[in-house]
Amino acid sequence: MPSIAGGLFSAGRGISWLRLRRLQRPLLSSLSAGGGSDAPHLPVVIVGAGPVGLALSFLLAKFGIKCTVLERSMEFTRHPRAHFINNRTMEIFRKFDGLAGDIERAQPPVDLWRKFIYCTSLSGSILGSVDHMKQEDFDKVVSPISVAHFSQYKLVDLLLKKLDGVGFQTCFPDELGGSSAQDLLLENKILMGHECSSIELTDDGILVGASFNNGGRMQERKLHCGLLLGADGARSKVRELAGISMKGERDLQQLVSVHFVSRDLGKYLSSERPGMLFFIFNPDAIGVLVAHDLEHGEFVLQVCEQIIVKLVGWEPADIQVLDIKPWAMHAEVAEKYVGCDNRVILVGDAAHRFPPAGGFGMNTGVQDAHNLAWKLCLLLNGIADPSIIQTYESERKPVATFNTELSLENFKAAMSIPATLGLDPTIANSVHRVINSSLGSIIPRNLQKVVLEGLFSIGRTQVSDYILSENNPLGSLRLARLRSILDEGKSLQLQFPAEDLGFRYGKGALVAEDCAESTYQAEDLKHSKRSSGEYIPSAKVGSRLPHMLVRPLSASSEGVFSTLDLVSGDKIEFVIIIAPLKESYKLAQAMLRIADEFELSSKVCVMWPQGSRDVEAKGSISELAPWTNYVDVEEIPRATVNSSWWEMYQVSNRSVILVRPDEHIAWRTEPDMVRDAYSDVRRVFSQILSLNRPQV
Ligand SMILES: Cc1cc2nc3c(=O)[nH]c(=O)nc-3n(C[C@H](O)[C@H](O)[C@H](O)COP(=O)(O)OP(=O)(O)OC[C@H]3O[C@@H](n4cnc5c(N)ncnc54)[C@H](O)[C@@H]3O)c2cc1C
Repeated sequence: MPSIAGGLFSAGRGISWLRLRRLQRPLLSSLSAGGGSDAPHLPVVIVGAGPVGLALSFLLAKFGIKCTVLERSMEFTRHPRAHFINNRTMEIFRKFDGLAGDIERAQPPVDLWRKFIYCTSLSGSILGSVDHMKQEDFDKVVSPISVAHFSQYKLVDLLLKKLDGVGFQTCFPDELGGSSAQDLLLENKILMGHECSSIELTDDGILVGASFNNGGRMQERKLHCGLLLGADGARSKVRELAGISMKGERDLQQLVSVHFVSRDLGKYLSSERPGMLFFIFNPDAIGVLVAHDLEHGEFVLQVCEQIIVKLVGWEPADIQVLDIKPWAMHAEVAEKYVGCDNRVILVGDAAHRFPPAGGFGMNTGVQDAHNLAWKLCLLLNGIADPSIIQTYESERKPVATFNTELSLENFKAAMSIPATLGLDPTIANSVHRVINSSLGSIIPRNLQKVVLEGLFSIGRTQVSDYILSENNPLGSLRLARLRSILDEGKSLQLQFPAEDLGFRYGKGALVAEDCAESTYQAEDLKHSKRSSGEYIPSAKVGSRLPHMLVRPLSASSEGVFSTLDLVSGDKIEFVIIIAPLKESYKLAQAMLRIADEFELSSKVCVMWPQGSRDVEAKGSISELAPWTNYVDVEEIPRATVNSSWWEMYQVSNRSVILVRPDEHIAWRTEPDMVRDAYSDVRRVFSQILSLNRPQV
């Protein structure tokens, strides 16, 4: 009897037409082959152990795919960079063995970071402030989890712990010895101090060259792999070696990030004016301070050490600068995500570089990894066709294009504030040039002082108390303009619910509805990216499955969970959602059978109306027998909205919804739209698995 536990990787039931077809696929069978080279051969090599490379290696390891990560540095960077984790990424992290919960427990309390503050100094007048959290974030209305504020390096630490839990280890060149380490020694390892320096397309894979320092001598290790995943950041070597160029705007701004700690400053801000971002405009200095952790006094300032004191307004006794990093802001997307005969794939910053306004960089990268992982697993297990990799590009590239434009608009919105105050924000570029041209990243104190004094004298009188005062006609006009920008939500926003949860794939590993317009034809969208605002849950094909609380129908099972939890985080599984209707059961049966034929793990979720548990509904046992891979749940609509799940998401309860392992809807139909259930469903699964696509 078919069972819910009948896993994806178990042997199939009888030789299916699919299996026969598979025998004819030379490319697939070579994805883990050695290609005649002496180099160790691995199914997957990931270049880069940033947040995206680590997230991807965790998912692959969890789903049983062996991979090796090359990281050029000998240690993980402690520079904080990203700190805002959006709603969708937190949902994904819920299924990383409880990572989201770990983040929630470790992050600073939300009251310490929910606001952006505009001020003349950290202890001077507050020009305005914006609170970015709404009650519905706390009530978890549209998602079972909320956004988070957590430094990138701390996230990397937690990801490493999760990787440890799935048997992944970090190792250093001296632990591996010379260049002849064999594949078993390299599987499920992060090879620190290994820089990807060459790639060569072979008949059946990619030969990767990684240089490393072995006891003072530079050596090269060769690895042969079926797939090479470039997660090596904005200046990706893999992208360059694969000959993939970027399209968009380059070098929009040159900035400098100063990472420092001051518990005194943290304590002061926590009690007087807690916030996440402080936009500071005063006659001596202009800058943006990111409070990564007020409780521990950890900050990043987008300029330089000397001016910290001026921005603070007094001199904390304990300022300790940890690191200064110049960086350039770009708005670019790779022209292709996939190269070298489907064998090189770009993810994260290697595929897109956004201005960090709106916090889309790492979030988009983690979501790339989530989109890619299940497809690679099905491919490497011989279930999907290699061309499924193209659906990664057709789904994720439009999202990156859209997010690039959105980040650019956010960046312009952020720049509207200094402009309103009569300042020229481009002065930061000069600071960057000076820092870059000095030897090393830390320039001597006396030089910094001279440089900064000169740079910040430009235009600084514009924000002197004399001009920026209600008593001065120009100042009062500027302050009124500033307040209206903040009140109307036209300044930099923290949350983008419509884009965060509402993005929808137009074409890819799904069967688009006839009427489905492509959501991410970004170039066709004439309206402002920032104007859409609210997230409108949708059960249309390509959307993320909308969240609603449900509880098991059986009185013996307790607990309430999200519809998103119907999709397993521990295995690759498709979910079929139906209402308890005769015709829907019949179609669900056909879907279970065909999924089984394709050796796909699947399960049915029967969504019963609220109150069904009280009337002791018998559940679906007789309707779905002999299948046991189903779950009966009862809807728990919110107290304020007395609609069923189907009504809330504007679909008929006669709909049958097929959900992919990444929680996106792959197909939606109604029993009377299906002519021949078995052949229609077979066609649908073939399309999702790219089995009927021409080879690329
Ligand atoms: C100031 C700032 C604030 C930001 N804030 C946010 C935010 O709040 N939210 C958000 O989502 N994003 C934010 N971002 C963006 C975010 O930091 C990046 O998008 C994120 O780091 C991308 O992760 P990644 O793993 O793709 O690349 P990276 O983090 O750059 O990691 C790439 C890794 O590859 C390694 N590597 C590079 N080349 C090689 C090679 N040849 N061989 C082997 N290894 C190699 C590098 O050493 C590195 O470890 C911010 C960025 C900045 C600069």
